[in-house]
Amino acid sequence: MGASVPVVERAAQGAKVNAVLDFLRRSPMKLLIGGEWVAAKSGKTFETINPANEEVLALVAEGDKADVDEAVKAARRAYEEGRWPILTPHQRGRFLLRLAELIDQHADELAELESLDNGKPVSQARSIDVVGAAGIFRYFAGWTSKLYGETNPSEPGMFNCTLREPVGVCGLIIPWNFPLMMAVTKLAPALACGNTVILKPAEQTPLTAIRLGELIQEAGIPAGVVNIVTGFGPGAGSSIAEHPGIDKVAFTGSTEVGKLILQASAGNLKRVSLELGGKSPNIIFPDADLATAVRSAMNGVFYNAGQVCAAGTRVFVQREIYDNFVADLTAAGERMITGDPLDPKTKLGPLVSREQFERVQGYLAAGKQEGARITLGGEAVGGKGYYIKPTIFADVNNHMKIAREEIFGPVAAAIPFKDEEDAVFQGNDSIYGLASAVWTRDIRRAHRIARALKAGTVWVNCYGTTDTAMPFGGYKQSGFGREGSRYVLDLFTQIKSVYVKL
Ligand code: NAP
Ligand code: MG
Repeated sequence: MGASVPVVERAAQGAKVNAVLDFLRRSPMKLLIGGEWVAAKSGKTFETINPANEEVLALVAEGDKADVDEAVKAARRAYEEGRWPILTPHQRGRFLLRLAELIDQHADELAELESLDNGKPVSQARSIDVVGAAGIFRYFAGWTSKLYGETNPSEPGMFNCTLREPVGVCGLIIPWNFPLMMAVTKLAPALACGNTVILKPAEQTPLTAIRLGELIQEAGIPAGVVNIVTGFGPGAGSSIAEHPGIDKVAFTGSTEVGKLILQASAGNLKRVSLELGGKSPNIIFPDADLATAVRSAMNGVFYNAGQVCAAGTRVFVQREIYDNFVADLTAAGERMITGDPLDPKTKLGPLVSREQFERVQGYLAAGKQEGARITLGGEAVGGKGYYIKPTIFADVNNHMKIAREEIFGPVAAAIPFKDEEDAVFQGNDSIYGLASAVWTRDIRRAHRIARALKAGTVWVNCYGTTDTAMPFGGYKQSGFGREGSRYVLDLFTQIKSVYVKL
């Protein structure tokens, strides 16, 4: 692997931020272990590709078990020697705020780097991913000083209380769809709670995590507190999941790999939290604001080229408005600007990788074969880059493969329903339960359905809205544990009971 030398000018063609080119010229990228940037012990590297032009952006160190061992030692030392957990909460909070400032200062650079590595439109990387990442650090900086234990009603002669303490060394394994934001979603609460970490970015999109590692050093966060091991799932990822020296793993990715993580964790009974896949229902009733519902359903399924775990991929529409709604959704999808992610007008870029590009085309073929009717797209754009046209399948029934399996591409399945009961039944008829939405002006129906849907998030008359102060996570095989909000603090802390004889 990693034979060719990347030609930065060609791979990053169209990039406007000089710092991005300077960063890419530092290829081959290294691992961050104990405050030093080091090559993988094996000396191996792998290529990270620009999905818009299929050129190699950079070579990246291929970490594996030997490197994870070193990273765990460094994280353990930083933890036990107290370089992080014994700072005052206010000091830890200030480091996280400094990091948020640095992200703001480098926002254009990080956005462009994310767009190059992942293929997402640069305008969205800038306004959503980078702004979101800084905001998440700020939110959790505030929590550092609010990790209270409790004083319990004790019998006379005793003083009983609880302490909320960090878990220890945490492994953070993340996917490629929101590379920077996924890294920060796990790093910020883990660090706020006083843990030290080993972060493994996805092989497809390691670059913003590496750049973030440099900013973490610039912020002055002590050596060994954050270690970054790039590499593959089997290898770097599996070594983290199995490692006896790691106390907790926080994983976001596919349900399939989530199950492997859970099995691997059994060796030392490490704590596990899993944010997994989805096949979320977006349910539309005739009494809704239909113009808004059409726009929102379109973004709900095509945003980030459909590579969103909470994407509204099953669009349920009540029968009497079904044909009109599908026609309007198709017209809206036709207007979606697809193309070069570095063009600020672009709304839909390429998929992240050749593998994903081929997987999604497999689902396009499956939908056609099962007799669903294509009203939009249904094929690759053609030429260089992993572009798939935004696609709508109509006349889908909920038992088709395209309605049951997570596609992770710009593909909507429009499914008719009869009445409220049928909508809830079909919406819940899935192994997943990550997110859901209902569109109606009837407030009683909205609340009834919000209760009836088996999903970690229900949106009413909107889709995809998130807030760091709200919990996010799955029901059923979409995982367990909640990220964001105060609930994630439970994942990155443990409770100790202290009994004091007076
Ligand atoms: P994935 O294949 O499950 O990979 C996720 C991460 O796990 C990557 O870093 C991957 O490494 C690593 N990995 C793979 N095999 C591993 C193993 N045996 N042991 C340990 N780690 C391993 O998922 P993906 O294809 O990157 O991302 C798409 C999936 O993520 C979708 O199913 C999507 O729904 C889900 N997702 C969920 C959420 C959520 O919040 N619920 C958010 C985003 C994505 P490599 O990639 O380097 O091989
Ligand atoms: Mg993968």
